[in-house]
Amino acid sequence: MQLNYIANASVASASGRTIPVIDPSDGQPFDELQRSTAQDIDSAVHAARQCLDGVWGRLPAAERGRLLMRLAEKVAQHGEELAELEQRDCGKPTRQARADAMALVRYFEFYAGACDKLHGQTIPYQDGTSVFTWREPHGVTGHIVPWNYPMQIFGRSVGGALAAGNVCVVKPSEDACLSVLRVAELAADAGFPAGAINVVTGYGHEVGDALARHPGIAHVSFTGSPGVGTLIQQAAAERHCPVTLELGGKSPQIVFADADLDQAIPAIVNAIVQNAGQTCSAGSRLLVERSLYEPLLERLGAAFEALRVGPASMDLDLGPLIRASQQQRVWDFLSDAQVAHIPVVATGRVVDEAPETGYYQAPTLLCDVPVDHRLAQEEIFGPVLAAMAFDDEDHAVQLANATRFGLAAGVWTRDGARQFRLARRLKCGQVFVNDYGAGGGVELPFGGVKSSGHGREKGFEALYGFTTLKTVAVRHG
Ligand code: NAD
Repeated sequence: MQLNYIANASVASASGRTIPVIDPSDGQPFDELQRSTAQDIDSAVHAARQCLDGVWGRLPAAERGRLLMRLAEKVAQHGEELAELEQRDCGKPTRQARADAMALVRYFEFYAGACDKLHGQTIPYQDGTSVFTWREPHGVTGHIVPWNYPMQIFGRSVGGALAAGNVCVVKPSEDACLSVLRVAELAADAGFPAGAINVVTGYGHEVGDALARHPGIAHVSFTGSPGVGTLIQQAAAERHCPVTLELGGKSPQIVFADADLDQAIPAIVNAIVQNAGQTCSAGSRLLVERSLYEPLLERLGAAFEALRVGPASMDLDLGPLIRASQQQRVWDFLSDAQVAHIPVVATGRVVDEAPETGYYQAPTLLCDVPVDHRLAQEEIFGPVLAAMAFDDEDHAVQLANATRFGLAAGVWTRDGARQFRLARRLKCGQVFVNDYGAGGGVELPFGGVKSSGHGREKGFEALYGFTTLKTVAVRHG
């Protein structure tokens, strides 16, 4: 039985109710978590406030850095255990789950080093007056985390907030929260004071909503779907609380005829099958220069046919989807493709060992997808790649920018001038040229435009979002 983690103690929800934890690899329950209420959020916010007004508020920045570094070490020591938790909870193949645990280590290391490097400015002003700025923490920050990368998103969001001097109340997803609860315990072992990191589990419309509305929360970091992002922003707007929104995407991979295909093909495949396509920055649209369209589809088709899907512990190319409703969602998109006579180029294969009760989906490559079809417009959040051809650079940019999203884009070309032109003209938060994801670097600011959200997390940039600027003007004659 999983409990909430408040003030460095495991506590049951006031509701006395629980939610089953399902293993997506076989669809069977194997644990329970607390179905918390607004009352539990209130307890967590209270504990966080006490910590901020007490020991945490007086801690020098360098000491916060030492604590984060100790937490990085704890996570590294428990990396295998955390990877196993996330593998079972999310259905992640072993290599992916391990990579996520190591990414969490890197987030804490990065933010450990950043704590004492967040400086204000001095500003030249009138004679006799000195002006400077302080970067101050918001106070108690709320963090609403999705199920697709619980450890990584905890690291980038909570790591940044703590580094800037905030204390945190975290609401992980009801579909995957085991690793986050364990990291909170490890933080206590690393020496974090009671109340610095609190985790409350439950349903979004119950505890997520209560967190976004709580008057004691001074900033909300939300990572999740655009629809819920709107609700969070509306709730926070009632009391003018700032929010960072990291939402979805429909990111294009744009391949010109001069691209190095040996480099591009594995990256294009990985960008849509990693975590079974349940990645916000999944490269889910493929835009190909017309002269390369047929030959590239042929090579990609062969790569798709070689892909294998199975239980997370088999560590194949893909594990299962997170839950039955997500599987149904992908099926609905694929049946729409059939109705619209959109051709299937190739699919991978679900292995025989995969239990029928698991949520498996073979990766699917579709071609000639009309730009206005929902397959080319909406986030599927599954391993489905929608390909279409473009005639020239202008056409490529027009197609790439033709969705409501703007998270990431991949550009594949050897033409240096075109690389820069495309990077300028694409309406999104990050552009990768002749690479995709660039190793996911924790140092790189990350976020979107349009319906992909606003605000930036990761990198040093996140620290500006997790602080507020105070200007001090001193008249001294
Ligand atoms: P979701 O929006 O359903 O849930 C995200 C979180 O919000 C969960 O913790 C959930 O419990 C909570 N929530 C749900 N309803 C709520 C409400 N009414 N009030 C407050 N909280 C509520 O998203 P999901 O299905 O868990 O995750 C998938 C989505 O997340 C995709 O759209 C994906 O692109 C996006 N995502 C974005 C990024 C990014 O960095 N841009 C990263 C990962 C995932």
